[in-house]
Amino acid sequence: MLSATEAAHFPIDQGGEIAFVGRSNAGKSSAINALTYRRALARTSKTPGRTQQINFFRLDEQLRLVDLPGYGFAKVPARIRRHWERLIESYLQYRSSLLGLVILVDVRRSLSDLDRQLLDWCQEAAIPAHVLLTKADKLSRNAAHAVLHQVQAAISEDAVTGAALPIGTVQLFSATKKQGVDELRARLDQWFGRGIREKKSPS
Ligand code: GDP
Repeated sequence: MLSATEAAHFPIDQGGEIAFVGRSNAGKSSAINALTYRRALARTSKTPGRTQQINFFRLDEQLRLVDLPGYGFAKVPARIRRHWERLIESYLQYRSSLLGLVILVDVRRSLSDLDRQLLDWCQEAAIPAHVLLTKADKLSRNAAHAVLHQVQAAISEDAVTGAALPIGTVQLFSATKKQGVDELRARLDQWFGRGIREKKSPS
């Protein structure tokens, strides 16, 4: 649909959209392509942190997928990192059509500080979050499930009070093996369905 480098260029804030975000190289482009059955809708790139733009993909008149720029590369200059933070913040905090955020995390790495910050933002803004543990094919079944349970525990507990909170959901995913595509699609359907129903009947 369009690519935006600043909030002024975002499409009109109506209908519903679901955004994908994660550390560069986490497998975001591959996941979007697997989800949409396209080979190169979202470009897969090995050049870290190059694209500092938000890509909007139209699903139909009302619904969009949003590809947020990757983060977490030490080599990226501070100026670019600040631009990333401002861009992401202006998107997450003010986008009323945002129905949910998919946070991609390589299954072999634990949640980064930024991943946690994104989860906090979601909680504050009451936006549901879904953690996609990517490249699950790189670990054995047992090892992948151990990570799944560990992240499940980490994101369902309030950091301050220790109370169990449904901050977000989590699943294993592999674009290469097409593992978890149906589960991810079901989550998006649920968010889209609920968001659109609520908009149609605010009561
Ligand atoms: P992005 O930077 O988050 O968009 O990540 P990409 O989708 O470009 O993927 C980064 C690298 O991880 C590429 O070399 C991909 O081929 C690889 N990759 C992505 N998904 C998977 C997966 O499910 N399994 C494996 N083994 N490799 C993957």
